[in-house]
Amino acid sequence: MLKPNKIHHKSQPALSERNLDRHMRKLLCITAHPDDEAGAFGGALLLYHERGVETFIVCLTAGTAARNRGTAQTHDELADLRRAEFAASCKLMGVTRGEVLDYPDSKLDSVHLRDAVRDLVLRIRQIRPQVILTFGPDGGLTGHVDHAMAGVFATLAFEWAGRSDRYPEQLEQGLKPHRAQKLYYHAADFDLPDRQPISQPTVTARIHIGAERFEKKVHAFRQHATQAPLFERVRKNLGQRSGTVEMYHLAATRSPRDAKAETDLFEDVADVDE
Ligand SMILES: [Zn+2]
Repeated sequence: MLKPNKIHHKSQPALSERNLDRHMRKLLCITAHPDDEAGAFGGALLLYHERGVETFIVCLTAGTAARNRGTAQTHDELADLRRAEFAASCKLMGVTRGEVLDYPDSKLDSVHLRDAVRDLVLRIRQIRPQVILTFGPDGGLTGHVDHAMAGVFATLAFEWAGRSDRYPEQLEQGLKPHRAQKLYYHAADFDLPDRQPISQPTVTARIHIGAERFEKKVHAFRQHATQAPLFERVRKNLGQRSGTVEMYHLAATRSPRDAKAETDLFEDVADVDE
C-alpha cells in the first residue's frame, strides 16, 4: 500500500539472499505529477526492476490541477483517484515503493525551496539510492514548470543529502548522510511541436528498452485513467524515434570524471556507499 508522507526503510535481505556482499542496487526517481513516472521514466524503471534493482518513486504533487479530472467532483476526490492510479502504475512496473507528496500542483515554483529539498533529502537518506533520475531545468520535453522545479529540488537534494551541514536535524534523529553516485536528467534528441521553447540537456545515455517494454510503459501510463483524453497524444510523443530508446543526461557524479556516452545508468556504479 502506498501511504503518503510515510516511508519506512526496508530492511536489507538476509546475507544468503544477496549476491555475496554486494549491496542492493537502488534507483530513485523524483517526479512532479502522477503519470510522469510512466511517461517520462517508465522504460528505465521497468528495465532496472527486471535487472534486480529496487526502484523507488517520489512524486511531489497529487496532480490536482489537471484539466482532465475523470469522475472527480472535488480537489480531494481527484487527489484520491490520481494516487490510486499512481499506485496501479507502480504495481505494473514492479516499483518497490512509490510515494505521492502533497505539494500544490502547478505551483512548484512558489513552494519554499528549503522545505521541498528537505523532504527529498530525507527520502534520499532513508532509501540510499546509488542512482537518481529526475527532470532537468528545461522541464523534460513538455517544458512544464513543475517538472523543472522537481528537477531543481532533486538536484539540490542529490548534492545536500551527503552533507552533514544540511538538514542536521535529520542526522540527530539517527539518519546518516548519503551520497548517491549518479544524477540523471530526462533528455531527448527531439523537441515537441507547438510548445514554448526549451533548451534540453545533452543526451549522454541511451537506454535501449525494446518494443515490449515500450508497450508496457504505455500500459502503465494508461493506468492513469483520469488522463485518458491525453493517451493518444502521449503515445505519439513517446513513440518518436520508435520509443524503444529512453535518453538521459548524466548531470552529476560522486567521483569527478569526463563525459562519455553510456548505455547503462548503473555503469561504473560502485557497490560501496559513502
Ligand atoms: Zn508531469
